Amino acid sequence: MVQKKGPSRYWLAASCLALSKPLRLFDINQPPLTAMANHAYRMIVLFIGSEKHGIQQKPNILHEYRSLCNIHYMIDGTWFALLFRGRNVSYLHHALENQGFRMTIKLKRISIQASLGSQVLVGSDVNMFSRLTAAFCAIALSVPLLSLAAPVSDFQAKVAQGLRLISLQEFAEPVWRTEDEKLELMRGRIQFFDLTEVYELEQSLPKAKAPAVTYPAPSHQSAVKPILNTVSVSNMQNNLATLSAFNNRYYKASTGKDASNWILSTVKNIAASRSDITVSSFIHSWTQFSIIAKIPGTSSTSTSPIVILGAHMDSINLSSPQSGRAPGSDDDGTGTVNLIEAFRTLLAAGFKPTTTVEFHWYSGEEAGLLGSQDIASSYKSKGVQVKAFMELDMSGYFKPGTTEVFALEADYIDTGLNTFLKSLITAYSAFGYTMDTPCGYACSDHASWYKYGYPSSFPYEAVTGNDNPNVHSASDTTSVKGFSWTHSVEFAKLAVAFAYELAI
Ligand SMILES: [Zn+2]
Repeated sequence: MVQKKGPSRYWLAASCLALSKPLRLFDINQPPLTAMANHAYRMIVLFIGSEKHGIQQKPNILHEYRSLCNIHYMIDGTWFALLFRGRNVSYLHHALENQGFRMTIKLKRISIQASLGSQVLVGSDVNMFSRLTAAFCAIALSVPLLSLAAPVSDFQAKVAQGLRLISLQEFAEPVWRTEDEKLELMRGRIQFFDLTEVYELEQSLPKAKAPAVTYPAPSHQSAVKPILNTVSVSNMQNNLATLSAFNNRYYKASTGKDASNWILSTVKNIAASRSDITVSSFIHSWTQFSIIAKIPGTSSTSTSPIVILGAHMDSINLSSPQSGRAPGSDDDGTGTVNLIEAFRTLLAAGFKPTTTVEFHWYSGEEAGLLGSQDIASSYKSKGVQVKAFMELDMSGYFKPGTTEVFALEADYIDTGLNTFLKSLITAYSAFGYTMDTPCGYACSDHASWYKYGYPSSFPYEAVTGNDNPNVHSASDTTSVKGFSWTHSVEFAKLAVAFAYELAI
């Protein structure tokens, strides 16, 4: 690449705007963010600037752009971003080829390529201006053609080929992978969102984060503590024995569906005496369904923020997902039975919250947070407000000889909600908390809620390294050394306290 000189930012607008009203180009250093946000349909934004003047040194601006951007790229220190919003657009794609910079835009089945030559983005090169102007006018002209595009998108064609759209990193362009390649990622302990089911819906969702919630200090100890005393370890043991007896709870296996049917009937039985409570299945495009139990708030309207507790019901044997043995006792049998028992305990105490509380059991967490993304994106598209989300994913193990703690995940969470969790643990728990090292991108279902702008949290069984090493195999059972019901029960109690303090 040619060295850049002088201020490396360019501003192209007039010629393209003259050709197509929907196309707008903005200078990164004069970002009319509000105008961009309001211009939500059919908009392309090009940012060009050096690393020095651009993306790296403007994290706040970048953050705002990212909340609006579908895709952005960094190429040899020059950064370049395209923003396109509009529900008719499947995706934008680019490739940098040896002979120069080639931009490929695919809108439905229309493909336009504009070769920008080998010396791109240089100083105040007039040729560069002409090339870019030409390229973007071509894009501008393509926009009105969208309405003529064929109904089958390139996206859908790829899905029909069995490819999955995988997001490996926040803000980075997702990539297409085969099911086998996806499994290899999982075996390599690489975390990701599988976006395939939600990507098209995501494009139309508002990107704005919900306003920060102020959480109260725990103040119902005299009511909550007697309820905590009724949390039953033996109920959890019995439920976990049933769940782990399914050969596996893989999201595409019939035994995975058997497990979801069993949880559905168990939770329905618990709620049988309460006509105000609904327990429903959330059907996905795969075999195993998710489950939502809703305790309506006595003062809640359809637009009131709700409290959600989640765990994932699926399990996986990474050597043989479809048919391999995967008891999933800790991952995430423990979180699943913690929530069943918390739900039972609250109802037995006659819990009638003012704020709506939902208990969720997710399908397909192990395969890229599929169930929680499906539900969270659906809630976002319906405008559901969420006051707080807490995930329980593994609560039954801590490395023998280490100090027993709640390990609070520190990334992709809401810090205010974490502060609230700390105060809950201090008020109600048999042991304390510590912050975990970063859990990383897409590490459990809380990340799905975070992604759609909701306040989320995730207390984990132990800090990374002291957590259960037997997961995703036939060895994830309650008989491993380090498995502890007295540890796990504290998470069920935390769930009770979380629901009560936030919703009563
Ligand atoms: Zn898990």
